[in-house]
Amino acid sequence: MRLFDLHCDTLGECLRTGKSLVRSDLQLDLERGRSFSRWAQCFAVWIPDELRGEEAVRYFDDAADLLEREAARCPQLCLIRSGAELDSLEPGQCGAILTVESGAAVNGSLGELRRLYGRGVRMMTLTWNGANEIGGGVREPGPLTAFGREAVREMERLGMAIDLSHASERLFYDVAGRTRGPLVASHSNARSLCPHPRNLTDEQFCLIRDRGGLVGLNFAPGFLRSQGKAGQEDVWRHAEHFLSLGGERTLAIGSDFDGTDLPEDIAGLGSMEALRGLFLRRGCSEALVNRIFFENAQEFFHSL
Ligand SMILES: [Zn+2]
Repeated sequence: MRLFDLHCDTLGECLRTGKSLVRSDLQLDLERGRSFSRWAQCFAVWIPDELRGEEAVRYFDDAADLLEREAARCPQLCLIRSGAELDSLEPGQCGAILTVESGAAVNGSLGELRRLYGRGVRMMTLTWNGANEIGGGVREPGPLTAFGREAVREMERLGMAIDLSHASERLFYDVAGRTRGPLVASHSNARSLCPHPRNLTDEQFCLIRDRGGLVGLNFAPGFLRSQGKAGQEDVWRHAEHFLSLGGERTLAIGSDFDGTDLPEDIAGLGSMEALRGLFLRRGCSEALVNRIFFENAQEFFHSL
């Protein structure tokens, strides 16, 4: 199968625990992706809200260094920065796309933002849950700051995707009003099925759809259902809902591997084939499954 996953936190877990990206007991390792015919994986550097300023920048660099070191010693792992590099991957290889979770990583500096792009960052959530130099997250709502307004303009100029997962609604609509290009919510589900503030309202989803962006389905139980045991069927439920809103070209995968607990029937990267099978059994066409699991994100990445 082909997989393009818009979000995992595995890199940070490796940095924290010293575990290997190649083989580990984490939810994702390279070994379990060997069977994929094509695999693009966004590796997010999550900046905890406690880290700000120079500390946040250093943390980003430590994580990016780790990814580069692993790529240097492991031929299966290729850092990719463009659509052309994505297309030149061999079966079994992991095309790693460096992303950032919380714009605190740029420490309020456009120079830092450009440096991160130079290191390969192709997508960045503006915030995590708290507020930072760019704007307000879900737990500390607020619009773009003056710096945030410059930062989103520069991200559009560079071709670094603006990721609005974790953004507060205020921030979401402020960004939407001040930008013209596609917007992404890399790992968020439907709020009308599970009323969590990290999920998207139908209106937000449709705005992302109309702008040619992407929404990645998140496997975190708390974003899949508010009561009872979550599972693969819930991932399908959210997919079906987004598809009913015309999301055939918007929907993608944003697993959140190693950033969350998982439902019992999702063991990690090794369960992706089974999830794909479930989508097919529920009546999703082969062509549409291919779009959701790979092609929508591939096309988007090409357009950056
Ligand atoms: Zn997240």
